[in-house]
Order: sequence, then C-alpha cells, then structure tokens
Amino acid sequence: MIIQRLDELAAQIDIPLEILQRKTLNSDFKLKVPMHFAQQIEKGNLDDPLLRQILPSIEEAQTAVGFSQDPVGDLKANPTESLLHKYEGRALLITSPQCDIHCRYCFRRHFPYEQAKKRHWQQALELLATDSSIHEIILSGGDPLTLSEAGLIDLLHQLEQIPHLETLRIHSRTPVVAPNRANMKNWLAVLNASRFNKVLVVHCNHPNELSDETHQTFQLYRDVGVTLLNQCVLLKGVNDSAGTLKRLSKKLFSQGVLPYYCHLLDRVEGAAHFEVDTTPTWQIFETLRKELPGYLVPKLVREIAGEPYKTPIYENADT
Ligand code: SF4
Repeated sequence: MIIQRLDELAAQIDIPLEILQRKTLNSDFKLKVPMHFAQQIEKGNLDDPLLRQILPSIEEAQTAVGFSQDPVGDLKANPTESLLHKYEGRALLITSPQCDIHCRYCFRRHFPYEQAKKRHWQQALELLATDSSIHEIILSGGDPLTLSEAGLIDLLHQLEQIPHLETLRIHSRTPVVAPNRANMKNWLAVLNASRFNKVLVVHCNHPNELSDETHQTFQLYRDVGVTLLNQCVLLKGVNDSAGTLKRLSKKLFSQGVLPYYCHLLDRVEGAAHFEVDTTPTWQIFETLRKELPGYLVPKLVREIAGEPYKTPIYENADT
C-alpha cells in the first residue's frame, strides 16, 4: 500500500492532522510514501528523520541562490529522451517515470519523466548497440524496480543481446522503502542466470530505514550474485551527525551492503533547507574516518554538471 493522502499519513504516524497540515505545503511533487517506510517513522515525532524526507514541507517554498530545476545537467546530457551518457564507458537508462516514494530532496523532482516512456527504449537500445565504448549500463529512473516483473525481464534480455555490455547496475530505493516489492521470484531467477556482472546500488539515508524485511530482500539479491552498495545524501535534520552515519554504515554492513557514496545535496529548487554547511560536514567525516574502518566510510562526493565523474570533496575545498 502507498500513502498519498495527508490524513492517511497522520493516522499512521499518530500525529493530529491539523498539526501536520500546518507544516505542509501544497506541492506539484506530491506526498507519496510506501506503508513499509511509513511504519519505520516513530509515532508522534514531528521531527522524525524519515518523516522529514517525505513530508512536503512549507520550507520548500523558500527560494535560495544557486538552486535550480536541473542542478546536475541531466537535461543537457540527454542524447535520446531516455538515455543519459555523461561518463565514459557508462550510460544510464531512464527506465521508469515512477518511484515508490517521493523524496523531498530529489535532484530529479523537476525532471520531465513523461518524455522517458518505454517507447523511447528502442532508440536508446539502438544507440547503445552502436557505441562499443559503453561497457556498463545503469538502470535508473525514477526507479527501475517499479517496472513490472515482465518488463524488467524483457529489458534485461534485450540488453544481453548487446555484446560489449559487461555490467548491469541497478539504482533503486525500492529494496529499502518497499522491500517486498523488490522480491520478484522470476526476475531474481533471470538475474541469477544472466551473463552480466551485477550491482545493485540501494539508497538509504538513515539506519531507521533498515528492517528485517530489507535484510531479507538484500539477501535474495546477494543469493543471485548481485553486489550490494549504498548511496546516501547528506541531509540536514536527517543524517547530519557522525553518530547517525556511523550507525547507518554498521547496520548496512550487518545486512550485507557496503557504503559507497555520500552525496552532498544537489542544489535543486525546493530543497535548500536540507543543505548541510561545510564545517559540520568536515567534522562529521573526520569523526567517521577516525571511528570506522575505511571500507565503512562512504566517499563524500558532489555531482557537478559537465564534470567527467562525480567530484570527490576534500577538506578546505569550497563545497
Ligand atoms: S527514489 Fe530516488 S529518484 Fe525517486 S524520488 Fe527518491 S531520490 Fe528521487
């Protein structure tokens, strides 16, 4: 079940509707949250870090200098309407216009997904087949795991026909926010038999997002030979403390997932209230490096439009 109405959310998290309404903005990017994620929100807590990620907040109406509708240059990098080719050797296919959840800080919240419908895949697949420099295909979105099981299997079979593709990478928040939905028996069997190297990059920002159900779903993907990595976004009021990120890394590891990237917020209109200042960011990462083994410290990066790779952020650099 997906919650899309404020009264349903209020009932689930035990906060009076009038109180929630006072904090909420009427946005074109609507409230959308799967029941599993809503169940991880602490009841009665208006400041819950998971609630902050999904509630259309009145803070979104603030304008801020440097924040735009296309902060990472996706629209400029779009050779067909569903293929992004920004980095050498890798290309990204917009597979679905939908997500199971609407994350308020999303850098693609203004992306014209309606242009990236299935009818454009053929053009994208033809382009991929003619460019032998591309070895890795990234399924992104929206969220690729919102496609039907039959649609996913069909797409994988078509990609396998392209001989120079070696690695399939799937970027999805579904295994975290709606883990049962990612548990598709036939899809997992097809993945198991696939010739591709397989990587699933999940997206989890706070340890409270992880549950027994996420653990079980991650294990199903591990069982069919998929490497699991996590990316998170550094978000004010959600995970902007060393203690939270440390717990996140440890819990991910205990569920078989390695931390990969921690992104600085992409400066998308409506999300300025999530941005973490430079000094606390350094302090957080200094503590993580001291207190965690290197393999549990995610790489701190920012995506800069036009750069050939995600830009690592180092202390004393201007973030
Ligand atoms: S799941 Fe990813 S693409 Fe979808 S709204 Fe959240 S951050 Fe954006």
